[in-house]
Amino acid sequence: GSTIGILGGGQLGRMLSVAASRLGYRCHVYEPAAAPAGDVAHAVTNAPYEDQAALRAFAESVDVITYEFENVPTAALDLLESIRPIRPNRRALAVSQDRLTEKDFLAGIGLRTAPYRNVETEADLPAALADLGAPAILKTRRMGYDGKGQIRFRDTDQRDWTGVPSVLEGFVDFTAEISVIVARGADGQVAAYDPGLNVHREGILRTTTVPCGLPASLLTDAVLMAARIVNALDYVGVMGVELFVTPQGLVVNEIAPRVHNSGHWTQAGCAVDQFEQHIRAVAGLPLGDGQRYADVEMENLIGDDMARLPELLRKPRVQVHLYGKGEARPGRKMGHVNRLL
Ligand code: ATP
Ligand code: MG
Ligand code: MG
Repeated sequence: GSTIGILGGGQLGRMLSVAASRLGYRCHVYEPAAAPAGDVAHAVTNAPYEDQAALRAFAESVDVITYEFENVPTAALDLLESIRPIRPNRRALAVSQDRLTEKDFLAGIGLRTAPYRNVETEADLPAALADLGAPAILKTRRMGYDGKGQIRFRDTDQRDWTGVPSVLEGFVDFTAEISVIVARGADGQVAAYDPGLNVHREGILRTTTVPCGLPASLLTDAVLMAARIVNALDYVGVMGVELFVTPQGLVVNEIAPRVHNSGHWTQAGCAVDQFEQHIRAVAGLPLGDGQRYADVEMENLIGDDMARLPELLRKPRVQVHLYGKGEARPGRKMGHVNRLL
């Protein structure tokens, strides 16, 4: 096939479109809102996920459907899938759309997560807090990103509520956060990029650094865990696996069934970056060379960081990526830089 359909037109969809174009594919982006991908994809459908005619026309115009956004409504996915294959598959989406099913899945394949309790309604909260103790974090089961929809509990008497079904997580006393960007091809081949060290500020990823400076045996464990996840899901595409490093070993924080912000360094560190790798996988091509050839620090440009742009553009060994978004609102990811170390 020669046209790739992408659900979601944010910066990830935009960078996927660029990678697909470079491999000679056409891209058709489906995005309900105004989208940064709009100016690079070959075709864009701006319609809600409830618009069945638009969904049908989109699916019929492409050969395979992938996504940069995992919260596409189930009914839309059902319709799309009746027309064209969706990669990564529906199970990967179902598992990762809901933090509870995600944690149940991870625990079910023998991986460690933070201790957790389903908090379906506000009435379940006191027992969950009593069970797990404080500190703890309440997270909405669906739709959260960049730390949105999370409430931190400093003591077990605190009563705050997200308003929607949530999970309570025991606080993991981690020494570091790392992530594995793993890819699985249509033929079952698995490849992982070097794990990166992630630093967050106010719940938002600030920097990812490779190499991450942790022992090789620990990184091997991390890669094997990521491989186990993609195998168990019969996954095709790139996945981001976020992990906590603790003195007792690795704990899986969450998985993202798509290219991931902590994999942006691959644009400067590898012959084949995560975006091309994902396109290769969903298009049924062999996976590319994801070996790391450079030490890199990726830094997100968030809100006011854009004031530093003139200076960053003058720096040697710095690759600047901008997403073509309008206003630099606080907390909004406007771009990123990859610094060759
Ligand atoms: P993302 O943008 O990565 O999807 P998110 O909104 O899904 O973010 P999480 O990854 O669940 O949020 O949490 C954001 C950050 O909060 C984590 O990277 C970590 O720093 C901290 N955090 C989350 N859960 C825990 C926990 N159980 N114990 C300790 N810290 C945590
Ligand atoms: Mg998340
Ligand atoms: Mg996260």
